[in-house]
Amino acid sequence: MQRIGVVGCGLMGAGIAEVSARAGSDVVVAESSPEAAEAGRSRLAKSLSRAESKGKIDSADEVLGRIRVVTDLDELADRELVVEAIVENEAAKVELFERLDKIVRSPDAVLASNTSSIPIMKLGVATTRPAQVIGVHFFNPVPVLSLVELVPSLLTSSETTERARSFVQDTLGKHAIDCQDRAGFVVNALLVPFILSAIRMLESGFATAEDIDEGLVRGAAHPQGPLALADLIGLDTTKAVAESLYEEFKEPLYAPPPLLARMVDAGLLGRKTGRGFYTYS
Ligand code: NAD
Repeated sequence: MQRIGVVGCGLMGAGIAEVSARAGSDVVVAESSPEAAEAGRSRLAKSLSRAESKGKIDSADEVLGRIRVVTDLDELADRELVVEAIVENEAAKVELFERLDKIVRSPDAVLASNTSSIPIMKLGVATTRPAQVIGVHFFNPVPVLSLVELVPSLLTSSETTERARSFVQDTLGKHAIDCQDRAGFVVNALLVPFILSAIRMLESGFATAEDIDEGLVRGAAHPQGPLALADLIGLDTTKAVAESLYEEFKEPLYAPPPLLARMVDAGLLGRKTGRGFYTYS
């Protein structure tokens, strides 16, 4: 698949567009407004110029030349693979998949979603071609992290899964792992309850934030502790993923602890607001 479409040019959509264009694909990115498209273009230009100055690519302009950011979804009509990376809202994604189903012409195009928590089945049945709908879950920052979770629904064909795997591994040079269509897939289903346990440990007065994080960095060789990681992910995002895991499995280990809920209420969302479990300048 060489003609790639991406919907949404935020944090993840821009990253997916960037790695696809760096791999030589022709990329069209659809945004919802001219302002968002302009923000997306400047996000892409900044990231590519950083990659150029670090010597990771020869020419940012050459890669940018393979990406078109548009505001008309109809421009995705000739795409062979479309990756949706809009806001994590089920109604918005279902509506988008209904529209993509009507717009994307090729009968064997793959329609993928980068969702972290919405069942792929709900997006598949919003189209007339659920066999070609699959979850392709990238990690942030996309140009740096090599993992992609492949998430077929019960109705996704094995041909679609293999075409998505080939794009991820052979074209992008990333590593794919296979997951069931369940909230959290593999990585978040393990990572989020671990972070929640660290928050409960802090909340109960068992240990300080610094000692919990030092413990995992020095004692288990983690690159950063769970509370610093929660600050990086964003406490609102951490809570939203925990809620979707809890909704799916009804296991207490996935329930967001009260301290996390109060911090989100207070706007203490971590690095992005300057304060979470730690304070950032
Ligand atoms: P974001 O808010 O940075 O970007 C979303 C973009 O989508 C915005 O630019 C917005 O203008 C655009 N958009 C919204 N509705 C649209 C529409 N109908 N048509 C076109 N564009 C539209 O969000 P993000 O962090 O990039 O997350 C996007 C998706 O990726 C979500 O499903 C999220 O769960 C998933 N995800 C996020 C991360 C992460 O670490 N942030 C990691 C993996 C997966």
